[in-house]
Formats: sequence, C-alpha cells, structure tokens
Amino acid sequence: MRKPFVAGNWKMNTDSNSSVELAERIASESADVAGRDVTVAVCPPFIYLQAVAKALSASSVGVGAQDIYYESKGAFTGEISASMLKDVGCTYCLCGHSERRHIIGETDDLVNKKVAAGIGGGLLPILCVGELRAEREASQTNEVVTRHLKKGLAGLSAEKVSVVTIAYEPVWAIGTGLTATPQQAQEVHDFIRKLLAEMYDGQLAEEIRILYGGSVKPDNAADLMGQRDIDGLLVGGASLKADDFLAIIQVAV
Ligand code: PEP
Repeated sequence: MRKPFVAGNWKMNTDSNSSVELAERIASESADVAGRDVTVAVCPPFIYLQAVAKALSASSVGVGAQDIYYESKGAFTGEISASMLKDVGCTYCLCGHSERRHIIGETDDLVNKKVAAGIGGGLLPILCVGELRAEREASQTNEVVTRHLKKGLAGLSAEKVSVVTIAYEPVWAIGTGLTATPQQAQEVHDFIRKLLAEMYDGQLAEEIRILYGGSVKPDNAADLMGQRDIDGLLVGGASLKADDFLAIIQVAV
C-alpha cells in the first residue's frame, strides 16, 4: 500500500532562526507518526537547508530542496547540484513547481533534466504538474498534465521513475485560497495513475505516490485524503504555521 506523504514547501519564507524553530516543532510534535505512518518532509529555502537538516537529523522528518540544477558542478553561477543537496542532508527535491515554470520560465525540457539529475544523484524528486486556470476553463487539464508527465519523465526507465513522487498542483489553486474539490482532484489523480500505467506498467502506477497541492488547509485535508488516488499533500502556505502543518500530518495518517 502507498504510505501517505505530507510535504511542506516553505517557498521564499522564514529566516535562520524561524526555519530551525519551525523544523524543531514539526519534528517533536509529529514524532509519534512521522516515518512510520506517514512520510513527512519540509522544503526550506536553499540557504537554510543545512541548518534545518541538522535540526531534523534525529527525527524521521525528511528535508527537500525546492529546486535543483542538472549539472553536477562547474561554471553555473547561482545553481545548486544534486551532490550539494545530498551533502547538506537532502532526501527530496521539488522539480517543476508551477512558480518555477510560470514565474522563472522553466521549460518541460529543463524540468526533465532536473528530474533525471535528481534521480542520478540519489535524490527522490517530486515532479509537480498542473494546469493554469485558463487551461482548465478550456478543458485542457488532461492535455497539460500529459505533457508535464511525458516530457518531465522523458527518457527515464520504470526503475528510475519508481523513486519519483508526482504532485498534482492546479496552478489556479496555489496560494489563492481556491482548492480543487476532492472530486476534481481525484479525477486528475486517477487520470495520472492510468497514464503512468500506459507509460510504464500497472505495478509502477499502483505504487507511485501522487500528492495533491493547492491551498491545502487543516479543514480541507481530510476530504482530499479521503480520495482513492490522493496519497498525500504538498502544502505551501499552511506549512509555515506549525499548528496547521501538524494538523494536516495527523489528518493524513
Ligand atoms: C505549493 O507551493 O506547492 C502550494 C500548494 O502552495 P499553497 O498550499 O499555498 O497553495
């Protein structure tokens, strides 16, 4: 069975003190379930990764990066490689978050290279996919998700993809307070799982975890988690409030 997975994306928030304080509270107050009943991870800004990883080192709460670069080292000013992320204690890396696709301008090809580099470097990528509001209104959701998945995972074998987590994040629901209804989310998760079965095989599709993200809060987490193909939650804003994130973790168990 797929173990629930709750990941917090802190985006460009916190500072050196508040990042460690938040991590310590999450670790101590989720200690009874984290790792055993639910996979928990937080994704702080790059600059606080090392301090947060240290604060979490005795816990089962994992650390993820919000991004990665695909080259291993060299003249790539401002970029961070998989080996650097491993070196400071990361287990996961987000790839293709919608803010990177739509604000920074990342392409599907770049996202694909990042996923491949993450896997090659021993990280567990979380590949984010999802449509813009206009795309949903034009009934293009499945088309967009298909493109993100096929291009994002291009050239990767089933064995490699087995370490990837997919996060379905409708862009219109991120940071807007609008949440996809549990039924809307389930429909897309079901579509993604069937597509993965076609692209790879039934076993991979059954085992891979598909998270939902987009204005998840303690009061909508249970309905989302109650859907058959929603295996966890990628939480932005609410992951910055320890009480809210802890409540979401408890709901996911
Ligand atoms: C996210 O950043 O991945 C996200 C889902 O944000 P929010 O929960 O704030 O919508």
